[in-house]
Formats: sequence, structure tokens, C-alpha cells
Amino acid sequence: MKPAPFTYHAPASLEEALSLLARHRGEAKVLAGGQSLVPLMNFRLARPAQVVDLNGLRTLAGIREADGMLCLGAMTRQHAIERSPVVRRLCPLLAEATALIGHPAIRSRGTIGGSLAHADPAAEYPTVLATLEGTVVARSLAGERTLTAESLFAGYLATRLEPDEILVEVRLPLPPRRHGWAFEEVSRRHGDFALVAVAALVAVEDGRCARVRLAAGGVGPAPQRLRRAEETLEGRGPGEAEIREAASLAAADLAPESDLHASADFRRHLAGVLTARALRRAVRLAIELAP
Ligand SMILES: Cc1cc2nc3c(=O)[nH]c(=O)nc-3n(C[C@H](O)[C@H](O)[C@H](O)COP(=O)(O)OP(=O)(O)OC[C@H]3O[C@@H](n4cnc5c(N)ncnc54)[C@H](O)[C@@H]3O)c2cc1C
Repeated sequence: MKPAPFTYHAPASLEEALSLLARHRGEAKVLAGGQSLVPLMNFRLARPAQVVDLNGLRTLAGIREADGMLCLGAMTRQHAIERSPVVRRLCPLLAEATALIGHPAIRSRGTIGGSLAHADPAAEYPTVLATLEGTVVARSLAGERTLTAESLFAGYLATRLEPDEILVEVRLPLPPRRHGWAFEEVSRRHGDFALVAVAALVAVEDGRCARVRLAAGGVGPAPQRLRRAEETLEGRGPGEAEIREAASLAAADLAPESDLHASADFRRHLAGVLTARALRRAVRLAIELAP
């Protein structure tokens, strides 16, 4: 339970961290909260020769609103997001999802950037990023680029970040002011990764669904947008029949795989149940908050 030998670096600036990654391209890993990287290193499933610690880079943490977006520095701790009044006011879906990550001890160290870069398909943040149509900003010595959830996630625990890139910021477009939201998941024990998770965002205008966003996690190698379910609801009343129709479309469109934790059929069934649950709660909130 000890990691393979590595050289530890504590850069004092982002530029220094990027230079280290460029110099040791492919041999270095950045260390954020360490909640996934350190166990992987201890089990020797990851053996980076160089570890570049981002914890001294205070400019990489913080929450701000800018240009209609909620912007979160990659090193923002999950517990800071969970407790932030700004997040609760502007993007309550993110606050709700954060409270479901692991346990308080995990959230006190784990970061939003680390979770997205780790790309566990059952993690809460990838599903939130997909639902909110957010982007991440990746920086290298060569410059900066922006990736959507679809372009970031390449498969199970895999992203399209280059080895010399650091994810520096997460940008989430603000949902409509009066919207309903819900993040529903099922896990075997409190604090475990979800077997399946579904996030929903709904705006209701004049008794009809004006905007619906749905995504599921734990049902494939990356989070999945539930586009047919969204489309079937938009422009229609948010009644029980419509919600059930959307939920069965969601389940039908997914092709999860069986694994040690659950069969493909059970995951598909859960996705339908959780879609209906998330939609009911989001619609109820949207109606309560409508003018
Ligand atoms: C017992 C336990 C239960 C957990 N339960 C859950 C759960 O229910 N839901 C959930 O979502 N997560 C869960 N986690 C994982 C937790 O959320 C981690 O915090 C998260 O996966 C990784 O974030 P981190 O900041 O700790 O990153 P680290 O572990 O430091 O890094 C993870 C990976 O991302 C890379 N990386 C980190 N930051 C960056 C960056 N800025 N740019 C580029 N690459 C980067 C690292 O090099 C590494 O490869 C759990 C962890 C444990 C130990």
C-alpha cells in the first residue's frame, strides 16, 4: 500500500506547473485533492514518475459569476461548492449534486477540477457538466482551449486533456432564473459512487415545459444527455403521462453494460425510475417558482 517512487514538485505558479508538465510530458501527474490519485498510486495502478502538486496555487480556487456563467476554479474544493451561497442561488443543481459526493472528509479535499479530470462516469460532476452544457478551460504553455462535456470525456476514466494541460476553470451557463432542478441517484451505501444518477433542469412557462435538460451518469463510459426525453417534454404540459413517456424514452436510449455492481437491465431500469423522479421534483419546483 505504498506508491512507487516519484519526485514531488510544489510549483509556486501556474506557469511553473505547466513548465513541469511540458518538461516531463507523459511522466507527470498533477495532484489536486488526491482523493482518487493517491489511492490509485498506493495500489500502484498509477505510477507517475513526477507528481506536480497544485495545492499551493491559490489562484486556481474560487467561485465567481461572470458573463452569465458560474465560473469555478479547478482547485475549488467540493465542500466550498456545497456551502457556497452563490452556488445555491445561481446553480442549485450543482450544490445538490455536490452534497452526494462521498463523505464530508472526501469533499473537504476533493476538487471540482480533479473530479472532472478523473472522469469517473458514475461521479456527480460529469453528469452536472453535461446537463448544464458547461465547459472546462484547459491551459498549457501553448495556450488555452475550451472543451464541452462531449469533447472532454473520452471514455471510462479517460479525457481528451493532453498530458501537458491543466484544467484551470469550469464554466457553467446560468440556468433560467426560475427553473426547477433535481439530482437523483441510487448507490448501495451512503457515500458510495452512484450505480446510476440522473440530473434534471426544467423551466415551465404558461403551463408548458419551456426548456428541459436531462443527463444520466453510471450508464456508460461517459455521462449521457437524454435528448429524446428532453425533446418529448419541451412545449408540452409537465403532467404525469408526459413524464412517464420521457422516462421510458430515457431508459430505451441507454445501453449500459453489466458489471460487478449491477446488470445492464437493472441500470436501464434505474435510469427510467430516476428520470421520472428527477422530472417530477424539478417540475414541482419550477411551478412553485414560476411568476
Ligand atoms: C471513499 C471515496 C468515496 C468517493 N465517493 C465519490 C462519489 O460518490 N462521487 C464522486 O464524484 N467522487 C467520489 N470520490 C472521488 C472524489 O470526488 C475525488 O475528489 C475526485 O474523483 C478527484 O478529485 P481530486 O481533487 O481529489 O483529484 P486527484 O485525486 O488529485 O486527481 C484525480 C486525477 O485528476 C487529475 N487532475 C486533478 N486535477 C487536475 C487538473 N486541474 N487538471 C488536470 N488534471 C487534473 C490528476 O492528475 C489525477 O489523474 C470518492 C473518493 C473516495 C476516496
